[in-house]
Amino acid sequence: MLYNEPSPLEVKVLSRRFGLPDSQSINTYLAHEGYQAFRKAAAMTPDDIINEVKISSLRGRGGAGFPTGMKWSFVPRNSPKPKYIVVNADESEPGTCKDRLLMEYDPHQLIEGMMIAGLAVDAHTGYIYIRGEYRYLINLMDRAIAEAYERGYLGKNIQGTGFDFDVYTHTGAGAYECGEESALLESLEGKRGIPRIRPPFPAVSGAFQCPTVLNNVETYCAVPAIIRDGGAAFAALGTPKNGGTRLFCLSGHVNRPGVYELPMGFNLLRMINEVGGGVRGGKKLKAVIPGGSSCPVLKAEECDLAMDFDTVAQAKSMLGSGGVVVMDEDTCMVKAALRIMKFYAHESCGWCIPCREGTIWLRKLLDRFHAGFGQQGDIPLIGEVAKNMLGRTFCPLGDAAAMPTISFVEKFYDEFEAHLDGKPCPYEEVNRFALA
Ligand code: SF4
Repeated sequence: MLYNEPSPLEVKVLSRRFGLPDSQSINTYLAHEGYQAFRKAAAMTPDDIINEVKISSLRGRGGAGFPTGMKWSFVPRNSPKPKYIVVNADESEPGTCKDRLLMEYDPHQLIEGMMIAGLAVDAHTGYIYIRGEYRYLINLMDRAIAEAYERGYLGKNIQGTGFDFDVYTHTGAGAYECGEESALLESLEGKRGIPRIRPPFPAVSGAFQCPTVLNNVETYCAVPAIIRDGGAAFAALGTPKNGGTRLFCLSGHVNRPGVYELPMGFNLLRMINEVGGGVRGGKKLKAVIPGGSSCPVLKAEECDLAMDFDTVAQAKSMLGSGGVVVMDEDTCMVKAALRIMKFYAHESCGWCIPCREGTIWLRKLLDRFHAGFGQQGDIPLIGEVAKNMLGRTFCPLGDAAAMPTISFVEKFYDEFEAHLDGKPCPYEEVNRFALA
């Protein structure tokens, strides 16, 4: 069954083969322009490939939005060490579920994107780091890789181009922290998944201390279209400095939740109302998390904005991983903040104190608060604990926990006040004896 009913407003570039019969197979891929971009790239110079990616304005789809072409250009050309292509397929951000579809419906597109990245930086080995919970996708990617070897699209002298490339899958153990690039590399090397001190960055010293290109699944999947149709054509789909399309994961209180490929810069309210069919039950919109749970929440009146990295940043949130979580008028914002903090307290790797302790404090404070045991000083205390985590942790997980909490408290202060001094949650009955 297909992921969801496609919307007529979608612009299908990366998801163009979703829904084709047997879309996972190399035969389907080859019949629909598959591996043509690789052939074209093999005839280009590495500089030309990187330049085309720069022209496309492709920015990393994992969350940070760093320009992909620039990232590739940081890999030192004359390094005597081997170079690696690593795929971050550790999709763990709550509200995000698009990389799984890219691998499930079109695994060869990812392999082709990796091969082109290999041509660009002279790398001959690639690793796909997949979260453990995506076990079925590891099997599926392994099948696609085996097919590519059988048909001469991986291995030695691929299609007579003289280019060698090998791809391996690697299983994570389901730790959110391993979505952070340096922790991912530690885990890939068989160590505990905790972040590295940077610099050096992976482009210079990544996997096995060698130069490494590390990008998200969606980022690599955009590369074949960029090379095939040209960087300018891809850039023209989006907004300035935000080229192409984005797979938005629309979830929460909408009538038609799903993964939709829309141009970068698509209006958020239109996404909710025209693509998602509006707020469920005809209720009013209260708030939206625009890019996964680590992004500051937007109030309904802030949602008339273009969904690109820069515009969402101007609205003091982030486009993040493309996970758009919609909340209706009956959502308790204290509970929403608590639910998010439970996740981060659980996923904190414990390596640094502000995150390890801060997330647990916040979880306990919010839990108590939601149950009606909040006291007058607690609201500023929640904000203060969160602010003291900001920028003081080894990796972005600390910020990812702090930023949404600060935004929930600042933007929905009245709802926090409504829970004070033993007052029950106005939105639902809470078992006050079941505090975590
Ligand atoms: Fe671990 Fe949190 Fe510190 Fe990141 S911020 S290293 S997840 S304890």
